Amino acid sequence: MSKKFNEHFPLETVSVIKTYQNDFGTIQAVDNVSLQVAPGEFVALVGPSGSGKTTMLSILAALLQPTSGKILLDGEDLSAMDDATRVAMRREKIGFTFQANNLIPYLTAVENVELMLRLNNKLDKAGKLRARELLARLGLGERLNNLTGQLSGGQQQRVAIARALIHEPSLVLADEPTASLDTERAFQVVETFAGLIHEQERAGIMVTHDLRMCEYVDRVLQMQDGRLVGVYSGSRNIKAFINGGQNAAWEGSTKQ
Ligand code: ADP
Ligand code: MG
Repeated sequence: MSKKFNEHFPLETVSVIKTYQNDFGTIQAVDNVSLQVAPGEFVALVGPSGSGKTTMLSILAALLQPTSGKILLDGEDLSAMDDATRVAMRREKIGFTFQANNLIPYLTAVENVELMLRLNNKLDKAGKLRARELLARLGLGERLNNLTGQLSGGQQQRVAIARALIHEPSLVLADEPTASLDTERAFQVVETFAGLIHEQERAGIMVTHDLRMCEYVDRVLQMQDGRLVGVYSGSRNIKAFINGGQNAAWEGSTKQ
């Protein structure tokens, strides 16, 4: 890990398991995953299709209950809460952007971002200013008042990133945030996203198929068959991983 924060992790999971039943038996979509993410740490979750990334991210987003295990968000166990408390925790402490960005088409870019503040009863003058500054920082300063349907896929993705950060969540989750961007724009967006996570000290997790995007993260977690099979940190090691993985030093699983 690039930083040492021993006293407090915004996110910690302990032995998370998610099983699904199908006609052929039981699938371990997530198999005993324990991890910690520090404030200001940006982590990539990578692995082949079907390795459990989306399932894991949905569990972290409090959208899916694990079969067993703990998800501690600012020290509180999401899996042990009643539904209403879990929903409130998600609204206040988690920001996310999924591949389908789920922007509301009849709201403008800035209204979509402000919505997260409105839902948390925090839409004041300072919040409105922050929403505009954040969008400007993401290159959308001149698109604030466009309906999201009038924006390109890449612009919409950047609005979704602003919406994931605006309410100052402890945990920010992104599933393939660069899927609809061209390469140059993808690098820019992930670099800005990483900068904001570092600066604002959020715990950030990004699922990505595009290993080149790992250039901007502090740690790479590699999943396979539901398990964490590799952990890479430090820019040399991460670069080696991006360039084929053969020379990257494997740091072992984060299992406790
Ligand atoms: P990834 O995002 O890495 O492609 P997923 O988390 O989507 O992987 O899927 C992990 C495994 O769990 C796959 O084998 C997938 O088929 C299975 N799976 C995911 N969701 C369900 C579901 N709702 N019901 C049954 N199996 C599922
Ligand atoms: Mg997926």
